[in-house]
Amino acid sequence: MFDKILVANRGEIALRVIRAAREMGIQSVAVHSTADADAMHVRMADESVCIGPPPSTESYLSIPSIIAACEVTGAQAIHPGYGFLSENANFVQIVEDHDLIFIGPTAEHIRIMGDKISAKDTMKALGVPCVPGSEGGVPDLAAAKALGDEMGYPVIVKATAGGGGRGMKVAQTAADMESAFLTARSEAKAAFGNDEVYIEKYLTTPRHIEIQVFGDGKGRAVHLGERDCSLQRRHQKVFEEAPGPCITEEERARIGKICADAVAKINYAGAGTIEFLYEKGEFYFIEMNTRLQVEHPVTETIFGVDLVQEQIRVAEGLPMSFAQEDLKINGHAIEVRINAEKLPTFSPRPGRITQFHAPGGLGVRMDSALYDGYSIPPYYDSLIGKLIVHGQDRATALARLNRALGELIVDGVDTTVPLFHALLQEADIHSGDYNIHWLEHWLETNLQDG
Ligand code: ADP
Repeated sequence: MFDKILVANRGEIALRVIRAAREMGIQSVAVHSTADADAMHVRMADESVCIGPPPSTESYLSIPSIIAACEVTGAQAIHPGYGFLSENANFVQIVEDHDLIFIGPTAEHIRIMGDKISAKDTMKALGVPCVPGSEGGVPDLAAAKALGDEMGYPVIVKATAGGGGRGMKVAQTAADMESAFLTARSEAKAAFGNDEVYIEKYLTTPRHIEIQVFGDGKGRAVHLGERDCSLQRRHQKVFEEAPGPCITEEERARIGKICADAVAKINYAGAGTIEFLYEKGEFYFIEMNTRLQVEHPVTETIFGVDLVQEQIRVAEGLPMSFAQEDLKINGHAIEVRINAEKLPTFSPRPGRITQFHAPGGLGVRMDSALYDGYSIPPYYDSLIGKLIVHGQDRATALARLNRALGELIVDGVDTTVPLFHALLQEADIHSGDYNIHWLEHWLETNLQDG
């Protein structure tokens, strides 16, 4: 059993891990940049170590500093949270080389799934349905054009090393292919240092449905149903829910079993998310995230499990605390992402929080690292909180979301809260009738001048 773990992250997710560890009787070590000396995760952890200056490349992404922090404090394992080093196979290798434990999957699984082409090939071989597209990378424009003609437009050109919605371009017709291909390639080169791209059929009205899986690393795995994350802006999720409003019990059981069997077969360890586009009753794999997701609380809420504690248990070599038959859905959960951003442009708004009040009451969870007087530094992601609500059904959860948003006070900076108040006025949100393009269209017509 671990006595002490290091949390290689900041913000709400660092608190999430510290809380899980504390309930298990495990001490936690926070790491922080000089810009985060007053951050809540530093205050809440049992110990803290300053690992560098504000830019994340010199602090939260500095592998030597994080390994040194483990050595200085005697932490036995590292929880990476999401983002930063959470999907860096090289980091995992270095952690293991220092006789430390990475709370997550193996470096090999991270490497396979981090490259979208090898991820797709692996999933296909494991019987997971994929979006039709190129066999591997597309070497040049001529090959891209030939493929577009063969598959039929629209198609999407995507970076093999992609993430965060970057390096992705849609070609609606053959005339768009040249610019889509060349732009995706140069964006991929700039963002990931790798200009390999591949091509997929572009689905025009899909929903984003992702399956939460969990493996023990020894051939046992379960699924914890789906999350619907179709409400996206620039391919970034803003509102997530579980269960998916359009997924039937039979569909959940079928795709869930395919996913659990796939990860069991490769001896996957810990939490993972298999992302699909869902259109006309069919699932199409797009990528796998080999870490805890931002939106994991909606799954925890409806299943009554603690995914972070489960990650720690499995990293300790213990068996999972639940089997597939133990996992029963209870009600409906919704999460909204509260960012320090100004509408309608969503430009980041770091600054000082003059007043913060978190909503409470039945079925309300607020994961946030804010406090009165906290200054949000300008160097990191603009996510400042996640509001998660639970109700016995979707309508109750939506009413609770409305009530909880009304109680929330975040003064001093602009936030995305007004967006959610506005969305709750929309009939489509209440009926659950939307696809991945709904929010972009809605923003164009409703948020022109803020
Ligand atoms: P990233 O890793 O950059 O987030 P993903 O492959 O997960 O990239 O895709 C992100 C989003 O882009 C999806 O949720 C979806 O909105 C859109 N997308 C990706 N592939 C397709 C496709 N083949 N057809 C339509 N939309 C797509």
